[in-house]
Amino acid sequence: MNDISVTFGENVFGDAVMKERLPKETYEILRNAAVEGKSIDIEIANVVAMAMKEWAIEKGATHFTHWFQPMTGITAEKHDSFIVPTGDGHIIMDFSGKELIKGEPDASSFPSGGLRATFEARGYTAWDPSSYAFIKEKTLCIPTAFCSYGGEALDQKTPLLRSMDAIEKQALRIVKLFGMSDVKSVRTTAGPEQEYFLIDKELWRKRPDLIYCGRTLTGAVPPKGQEMNDHYFGVIKPRVAKFMKELDGELWKLGVLAKTEHNEVAPAQHELAPVFTTTNIAADHNQLTMELMKKIADRHGLVCLLAEKPFKGVNGSGKHNNWSLATDTGWNLLKPGKNPSDNKLFLLCLVAVIKAVDLHQDLLRISVATAGNDHRLGGHEAPPAIISMYLGDELTEILEAAEKGAHHDDKAKAKLNVGTEAIPVFKKDNTDRNRTSPFAFTGNKFEFRMLGSASSISDANVMLNTMTADVFAEFADRLEKAEDFDKEVNEIIKETFREHKRIVFNGDGYSEQWQKEAEKRGLLNLKSTPDAIPYLCRKENISLFARHGVFNETELRCRAEIALENYCNVIHIEALTLVEMVKRDILPAISKTVFHLCKTLEVNERVLGRNPKMEKSIATYLSDCSEKLYEYIEELEDTVENTQRIDDIHERSVKYHDAVLSLMETVRDIADKTETLVPRKEWPYPTYGDLLFKV
Ligand code: ADP
Ligand code: MG
Repeated sequence: MNDISVTFGENVFGDAVMKERLPKETYEILRNAAVEGKSIDIEIANVVAMAMKEWAIEKGATHFTHWFQPMTGITAEKHDSFIVPTGDGHIIMDFSGKELIKGEPDASSFPSGGLRATFEARGYTAWDPSSYAFIKEKTLCIPTAFCSYGGEALDQKTPLLRSMDAIEKQALRIVKLFGMSDVKSVRTTAGPEQEYFLIDKELWRKRPDLIYCGRTLTGAVPPKGQEMNDHYFGVIKPRVAKFMKELDGELWKLGVLAKTEHNEVAPAQHELAPVFTTTNIAADHNQLTMELMKKIADRHGLVCLLAEKPFKGVNGSGKHNNWSLATDTGWNLLKPGKNPSDNKLFLLCLVAVIKAVDLHQDLLRISVATAGNDHRLGGHEAPPAIISMYLGDELTEILEAAEKGAHHDDKAKAKLNVGTEAIPVFKKDNTDRNRTSPFAFTGNKFEFRMLGSASSISDANVMLNTMTADVFAEFADRLEKAEDFDKEVNEIIKETFREHKRIVFNGDGYSEQWQKEAEKRGLLNLKSTPDAIPYLCRKENISLFARHGVFNETELRCRAEIALENYCNVIHIEALTLVEMVKRDILPAISKTVFHLCKTLEVNERVLGRNPKMEKSIATYLSDCSEKLYEYIEELEDTVENTQRIDDIHERSVKYHDAVLSLMETVRDIADKTETLVPRKEWPYPTYGDLLFKV
């Protein structure tokens, strides 16, 4: 057994390594820069680069890369080796401060939503000293932000860092007002729980939909699904356990705090949760986690599916973004403490989040809007597309009391008695963890559960940070002017809860009544990505992001365009894949089956003089199906062709949703029905049963 405390972070140029290898003064400057988000000058960068290079070479690295997160949802890297020719036929290994600070990848083919016309292909990557450099496959990776020639953000990291600055600035005003003068910084924290599927690689190879789209486009429901709930937290199969062990080991080497691994509800579905950390680092680490999941699965003859809904009728995968705010003095602003009623700072932060979520439902919805996640939201296992908040009974009662100007007796809090003396009685959690809520208070943090499993967590956190910063700013403005501070705090809590409590819902978020109730309350229900994205560029949102320096209008418009562009691309590829599968594999399989059935019929009649019903009815049914399939597939092809030509991106996305997706559904329904009638050996693809139960 290797000692994890030794290998943990061994591939990271982290704090301990820096302390050891950098001159004291350089180390201090770098550390402060990371904590306070200040920039670093070239002399310091030269010293850091030198130390980084030496460390990396000792670890066997030969290349370096600026590691960045363009708006493709995944990370990008372009490797350069350290070698520099000396002119006499020899080389030296070199890496300068300039190369550390700034890179210039040829970035013309990353999505920019028109920000960077291709003739102006220059994009820059800029070192982010707040996230440690690390070694991955003999390459020194330097986390960087990616922006255009004009400084506009072209990536996920830049706005995230900006939003963290924005919320920090406003949160500092609040904590200072509460007398916490020793606080120097306030950071948002995130702990993203990552769900995923593991399937057998050999089976994966046989399915074009999985290869091209990451999700199945056809597939009949197997006799056994997840109804027994016997997979959830069940014993982990040996092959999966081996995978998890290796994954943990590799993540630990990269300093990723992988903590909990367990099976999820659906067969073949699993989850990994890290220990939470600063949002920026959590986002980087989540990207690394997804990348390693895929790589390591491959080494085990498995494929890791990160798509939100790889199998129809089976739970999809999400990502729960646990979010809170912490001071550098170790105070969690969302921790209620023993007497939440008297913890005014907590209550103020709590109502700030309530107000932010109510006012900016659209932004939260947008932050999780992708073609893949649309299939999951509103499904049986996932929150609906309606944003609401769960507070739990106790906090709701506290706020209701505050609203009436009454005092809530926290001491009366119920104790949980497990009913056996062997287990001690312990205090009930402040919340009972309602699983159906898209945005739940879970004790000392909020858990935003609508994120899709494949997305970066950046978008969601950008929204959370910016919208909360805005409410903090408003509260701070009021409090700084208040004559009676305590009175004003109480007034704000009371007023805010009164005005925004419609967003609080502690009941079953999956139920149909809730959909109706939410409509009565006037909550948004943006069902699809094309419904949601246009809200991003509303006047209010443009000024919100500008006010806090997170996005300018151009950046915002580009993001909206990229989101819709991605949406169209995904559905386009899926539609073409489905057409190919039906034409080349499914229709021939049906034909062959019908042919065999008819042959049998013929022989029966000729030899036995009989006319058996079974063969006849199945052959007729299948033959009808193949006629219909053929018809719809032709229509699908035409529709895709016409949709693709629509100039206006929003109009195009709506057509992909309304026409293309619904035709795909129709085709799928017929294909799935035929699958159950075609002999197993004739069906061209591994079934759901094979995929889900054969790992
Ligand atoms: P559950 O599955 O019940 O939601 P888990 O323990 O699996 O709970 O996940 C909880 C996640 O929340 C973990 O990643 C944990 O590190 C994270 N978390 C805990 N406290 C905070 C906090 N203050 N800020 C952000 N994330 C947190
Ligand atoms: Mg959770």
